Amino acid sequence: VRELLRGLLDLLVPPVCARCGSGTSAPLCRDCLRALPMLGPDRCAGCQQAPPQLPGSLCRGCGAHPSALRACIAGAWFRGDVERYIRGFKYPPRGLAAQDASCLAVARALVCAAGSLVPGGAPDCVVAIPLHARALRRRGFNPAGVLARALALRVGVPLRATALERRRDTPSQTGLGRAARRRNVRGAFRARGALPPRVWLVDDVVTTGATLAAAARALRRAGAREVTGVCAARTPHA
Ligand SMILES: [Zn+2]
Ligand SMILES: [Zn+2]
Repeated sequence: VRELLRGLLDLLVPPVCARCGSGTSAPLCRDCLRALPMLGPDRCAGCQQAPPQLPGSLCRGCGAHPSALRACIAGAWFRGDVERYIRGFKYPPRGLAAQDASCLAVARALVCAAGSLVPGGAPDCVVAIPLHARALRRRGFNPAGVLARALALRVGVPLRATALERRRDTPSQTGLGRAARRRNVRGAFRARGALPPRVWLVDDVVTTGATLAAAARALRRAGAREVTGVCAARTPHA
C-alpha cells in the first residue's frame, strides 16, 4: 500500500528537486541544499551565532540569559535564495491556492533540516506560532502552521494545531528593536488544554526570538517543561 501511495503521490508531485529539476526523492537535491546558506550543528543552540561551550549547548551569552526556550534552531540564514524562497512561501500572490511549489518545498525542507539539528531527539508534539483570527482571515493561511504540519509528519509525532491562541493582533515585529519586540508580544499568547513535557514550537523566520519566547511561556504555564523553537530560517545580525 505504501508503494502504491508513493506511486500516486509521484504522479501529483514528481520526485524532482524543487530548485534544479534533477531527480531526487527529497524536496531539494543534495547540491541545491548545499548551495543555500544552511546552518550546521557546530553553533550555539540558542542564537546559532557563536560557538557553543559544549557540543549541543549554549554560548556564554545565551547561557547567561535564561529563556523560556530550551533551544532555538533554524535550518538556514534568512538571506539570498533562502530569503527569496521564504518570502514566496509566506506571501503567495493569491493565497495558498497560488502557492509556488518550489517555495513551499524549500520552506518545508528548511524546517525539517532545523528539526534534525535539535539536540535530544523527537518531542512529544509540535505546535505552531498562531496568527490572530483577524490576521488569519486576511492571509488565508498560517505559514508557521504549514511548516509545523510538515515537521510533525517528518518526525512522526502529533501536531497540536489548536494548542496556542493569539489573543492580540500584535503589530508586525519588523523594524522594532529587541526590547520593543518583547513588549509587543508580551501576553499575546494563551495555551488551550494541557501540554505534554517536550514541545517543538515552529515559526517561519526567527529574528530575536521574542515571539517564540512569549509563546513558550504560555506553553510552559500549561504543562510543557521543555520548549524548543524550530524555524525555517534565522535573520542574520539580530
Ligand atoms: Zn537541485
Ligand atoms: Zn548563543
